Amino acid sequence: DRIARKRDREFNEFRERIKDADQFKVEASVFDDATYGAIYKLVQDGHIDAFGGPISTGKEANVYTALAGGSEAWSTSEQAGDDGGEPRDRQVAVKIYRINASDFKDMRGYLDGDPRFEGIGSDKKKVVTAWVRKESSNLKRARRAGVRTPEPIAVERNVLVMEYLGTEEGRAKRLSEVHIENPDTAYEVVTEYLRRLYDAGLVHGDLSEYNIVFHEGQLYIIDLGQAVTVHHPNAEEFLERDCRNVANFFARQGVETTPEELLAYVREY
Ligand code: ATP
Ligand code: MN
Repeated sequence: DRIARKRDREFNEFRERIKDADQFKVEASVFDDATYGAIYKLVQDGHIDAFGGPISTGKEANVYTALAGGSEAWSTSEQAGDDGGEPRDRQVAVKIYRINASDFKDMRGYLDGDPRFEGIGSDKKKVVTAWVRKESSNLKRARRAGVRTPEPIAVERNVLVMEYLGTEEGRAKRLSEVHIENPDTAYEVVTEYLRRLYDAGLVHGDLSEYNIVFHEGQLYIIDLGQAVTVHHPNAEEFLERDCRNVANFFARQGVETTPEELLAYVREY
């Protein structure tokens, strides 16, 4: 009982502290109490130490950088040279879904036909929670299939902690934001990713130049929350749309390709 009271007090202090943090002031409405609880749990479990700034405020979710738990102990010997051996803090990305986001109704449909999330019902909280677990397991499955995506680190309720793609200067740039030096090579890589995903039974469902980023000289696919298994009633339609977005984008970069050609290649196996 005394321990429970102490925990409550600690939680309240923590909540006030992060509510006061500058980056949250403008958007305090993002977090309901249960979300603070989830963040608190992630801190207690050692996944997060402190929040950095926002990377993105999307329709359903906000993404922040944060200091990974136990970062003080972390340093790299290669970097220790020129800057006097300062240990570099390791960052993670924290994606927080807003339970009350208006677009939530669409989420329900993406869980249909997914054998991993049968019987979820339509309770808002349950749908969003399932969604975040789905995003995490999609990331894992994609990685196992040989597709570069951020590594999922922890999931708590409506919060996903994952590997941060970027540098201390900022998040990794989207394909839409960079000059692509060699579009043919980039297209080959993305094509291979699409095929590997499909082979692993997944369709991204929102693939475009906005959900592919450049990190450490490699292409990474992000935002796999809405990705569906091939069992989904709209899986083929989503695959066609993904292929259309990707092929049309690269065609504009000068690559000789068409959506039909890409689709045929992905389905070929
Ligand atoms: P949108 O609706 O804009 O597509 P979203 O809510 O679906 O956004 P994401 O696409 O997953 O969320 O993330 C939004 C943006 O945050 C990305 O475009 C990317 O720039 C950045 N981002 C997401 N995850 C990471 C990560 N792990 N590391 C670095 N940046 C990230
Ligand atoms: Mn996105």
